Amino acid sequence: MTPLLQVRDLTKRYGARIGCADVNFDLYPAEVMGIVGESGSGKSTLLSCLAGHLVPDAGQVVFDTRAGGPKDTVAMSESERRMLGRTDWAFVHQHARDGLRMNISAGGNVGERLMAVGARHYGEIRHAAGDWLGRVEIDEGRIDDRPSQFSGGMQQRLQIARNLVTGPRLVFMDEPTGGLDVSVQARLLDLLRGLVRQMGLSAIIVTHDLAVVRLLADRLMVMKDGRVVETGLTDQVLDDPQHAYTQLLVSSVLQV
Ligand code: ADP
Ligand code: MG
Repeated sequence: MTPLLQVRDLTKRYGARIGCADVNFDLYPAEVMGIVGESGSGKSTLLSCLAGHLVPDAGQVVFDTRAGGPKDTVAMSESERRMLGRTDWAFVHQHARDGLRMNISAGGNVGERLMAVGARHYGEIRHAAGDWLGRVEIDEGRIDDRPSQFSGGMQQRLQIARNLVTGPRLVFMDEPTGGLDVSVQARLLDLLRGLVRQMGLSAIIVTHDLAVVRLLADRLMVMKDGRVVETGLTDQVLDDPQHAYTQLLVSSVLQV
């Protein structure tokens, strides 16, 4: 099977400071990879490089595109990467407002993505949007409400609907449950787990919350100071961590 993503020697610096360095891994279709590590360990930098939001200083990110097979997204033009962002990738931000258009309706937020990949029939777009609101447990009667009228948890669920409606090949998530109340987090996590299973999603999820990776991730990468210090199956890494840093992380001694 062709890997969906092949990451080789990926490095990004900010001046003299290391963002992430020498990152290597493969992701296969329908696999969920969790990236954990304390604040400042390079998780967001790595995710931004993978999702084409940041251009790394070195390395390759070969992605198996829907249209043309495996291609190095680092070597692509900006406009090619932007196109992949519409057709093949989805990005769920920690703060829903960064991933939503707050001044258009909930239905518009979801429908806009379908239009970006060529849908034109108003009735069908509205139907699909309503359907997706239902799938993320938002009352379809609220299709014309704006996200600003929604609670934080609902906004995050709307952001997820907006991102999944086009059936992306790869979903990036940066702290998808961060910044929400604990009870809201649990519900969102449950919903995400259901969607991952139903849709067979391929995803890379950055989080500092081990409960998130325990529930969602097949595999885990542990980062420290921009480098991957441990990688393996999630249960293996969490139940029998090999690296001293991972042991600290798992024993919750580290404030992440
Ligand atoms: P995490 O997401 O794990 O908290 P980041 O990827 O945000 O980690 O940061 C990794 C390192 O890169 C940190 O040392 C951070 O200070 C640095 N860094 C991140 N973004 C920038 C930036 N825009 N300019 C300079 N340094 C940055
Ligand atoms: Mg971060």
